[in-house]
Amino acid sequence: RSQHNSPLPWTQYTKALEQKTRETVDLTTKLRHALEADQLELYYQPQVDLATGRIISAEALLRWNHPQAGFIPPGLFIPLAEQSQLIGPLGDWVLRQACRDLKAWRDTGLAVCPVSINVSLIQFQLGSVPDKVRQALTEYNVAPGELTLEITESVFEHHGRDLKKDLEALSAMGVRLSLDDFGTGYSSLAHLNDYFFDEIKIDKSFVSRLDDGAYAQAIVKAIIFIAAAIDADVVAEGIELTKSIATLQHLGCKKGQGFLYSHAVPEASWRQLLIDQKPYS
Ligand code: C2E
Ligand code: MG
Ligand code: MG
Ligand code: MG
Repeated sequence: RSQHNSPLPWTQYTKALEQKTRETVDLTTKLRHALEADQLELYYQPQVDLATGRIISAEALLRWNHPQAGFIPPGLFIPLAEQSQLIGPLGDWVLRQACRDLKAWRDTGLAVCPVSINVSLIQFQLGSVPDKVRQALTEYNVAPGELTLEITESVFEHHGRDLKKDLEALSAMGVRLSLDDFGTGYSSLAHLNDYFFDEIKIDKSFVSRLDDGAYAQAIVKAIIFIAAAIDADVVAEGIELTKSIATLQHLGCKKGQGFLYSHAVPEASWRQLLIDQKPYS
């Protein structure tokens, strides 16, 4: 987008654009291959009770470990997947893998720990999200309440009545709905006005500034107030500093996640985190 303002003569501009398009197509092709070759992995980041530090749920985060290029961040490949409709099969894989993992944890006797997956609004446009969720829950014998859909939106799209119908169907099923990155980009009050959410996630850009002072805290306080007013849970993301815990609790936030507690870890390490967590005494 910045290229629009660039002083390049148009021939060079066209060249740069062609180059960019080639790279995008190339990476999208590789991503499609990665999906087919089973090179994608779900990592899990703990969501904790701020009062005790205990793990209460997990957010599943997609990881692409490319054989040559190494880890490619989802912030890079998810938008590509959204532009190419690959987000459809990719999202299906994430949903089914999370349910498969939930079943595996139960089968090995681990305590049930609800999982949040990220779902792009583009997936709803591609259709049948509620059906796919119902199928995955049934196939892997997962209770609807063990699954939360974190709705993320990286591009503005027009959402019609179909989205509302889908979200209502999911709620009726007992699946939890969370509004991710609240307060940034397109994750806004308009969504709260139009749709029902069980949970709001305070974007990390707000959490990271908590210790700047009263002004930054007032904004977080207002978000927590909105959540409480509509009876939604609130989760702070991106907690990196110990002192943020007390501030968040003081403002009325009970649940959070961040590097302070743990990065997202591979499934095997996640199991170990759960095993190592001593039961309540
Ligand atoms: P998100 O859903 O808001 O996920 C939180 C992101 O913040 C994750 O980045 C996580 O690793 C990172 N994070 C967690 N704690 C901290 C912290 O304390 N400090 C900082 N600086 N960052 C923290 P990640 O895994 O790179 O994912 C980026 C975004 O990509 C996600 O943001 C989500 O929008 C998208 N994404 C990831 N996996 C999926 C997926 O399976 N499906 C879809 N549709 N989107 C996904
Ligand atoms: Mg998320
Ligand atoms: Mg987020
Ligand atoms: Mg995000």
